[in-house]
Amino acid sequence: MVPQKTASEVKRLAESVGYVDCGIASTEPFTEFAKTIDCRKEQFPEAAPEYERLRSRAFPREKNPWAGSIVVCVRWYGKYRIPEGISPGIGRNYLFDRRNKDCPENDMPRRMKAGLRKLGLRVRRGGVPDRRAAVRAGVARFGRNNFVYTKEHGSWINIESWLIDKKLPADEPDSTPLCPDSCRLCIDACPSGALQGPFCMRWDRCVAYLTYAAPEPVDDRLWRTMGRWVYGCDDCQLACPLNRGKWRPEEPACWLENIAPFLSNEALATMDEETYRTVVHPAFWYIPPDNVERWRRNAARAAGIRPEQAGRQSG
Ligand code: SF4
Ligand code: SF4
Repeated sequence: MVPQKTASEVKRLAESVGYVDCGIASTEPFTEFAKTIDCRKEQFPEAAPEYERLRSRAFPREKNPWAGSIVVCVRWYGKYRIPEGISPGIGRNYLFDRRNKDCPENDMPRRMKAGLRKLGLRVRRGGVPDRRAAVRAGVARFGRNNFVYTKEHGSWINIESWLIDKKLPADEPDSTPLCPDSCRLCIDACPSGALQGPFCMRWDRCVAYLTYAAPEPVDDRLWRTMGRWVYGCDDCQLACPLNRGKWRPEEPACWLENIAPFLSNEALATMDEETYRTVVHPAFWYIPPDNVERWRRNAARAAGIRPEQAGRQSG
């Protein structure tokens, strides 16, 4: 098959799987990404091994010398209705995580991979910095909050990438700046100061990280900035004018409707271990199954219960 025809077939396949956009990028090194990672390693030496793992994605052909192109797909989750009663402190990306086995979109990557193989391509999932690859493939652009955006879907998207062995004609990136010159609404909206400036985020202060991954107890000053957030944080996306009208809840989220009664702030603040292990953890798995306390404390704070009443250990 000639490369142009294969590229068209790949894009048709992505559409049939349910992705809202698909682009092709070259496998050239992502040198800017490598530089950013090197800076972060200096800033946060304690996270050096994690950064080193990420850095290898900047050079896709080092581990995959056979790779000829990157296929980049966009999944839009801003189409789902948030079931009534669910805590507004659960980040939308986590609510509609395709990796949840009950989500009807769970098997999109598997179907995409199988389809690419059917087209006679050698395939490997991932292995690249997804957001940078999306920009290079012309399907998204970076906002100053470090999220990538499409014109149609805002930042309520996930990027998924595959390396393939064939060199296909690459799509053109859109190099026009995305954000209006004077806008800094996302930076001003960041409750913890994690978003320190345009494109500059301190992950160790990000409320999302603080809710589910930071060592406990969370520093008191940071804890006080976490406000209504229970699991994740969307403040820098909710404040963004580019997201206006981009959440268009057209489809029910059936798999969440069943468990919605367990996901209010009040229910989460008092849930027992069994409910956590069997109902909540299968859908939101970043907090270990033996740490129901973390959920309870986060939900109690969000519900406005004083920390000592919620059993929070002081930092
Ligand atoms: S997710 Fe929340 S805490 Fe993290 S950078 Fe965005 S607004 Fe700040
Ligand atoms: S809030 Fe403004 S600066 Fe931030 S990403 Fe949106 S448009 Fe860009």
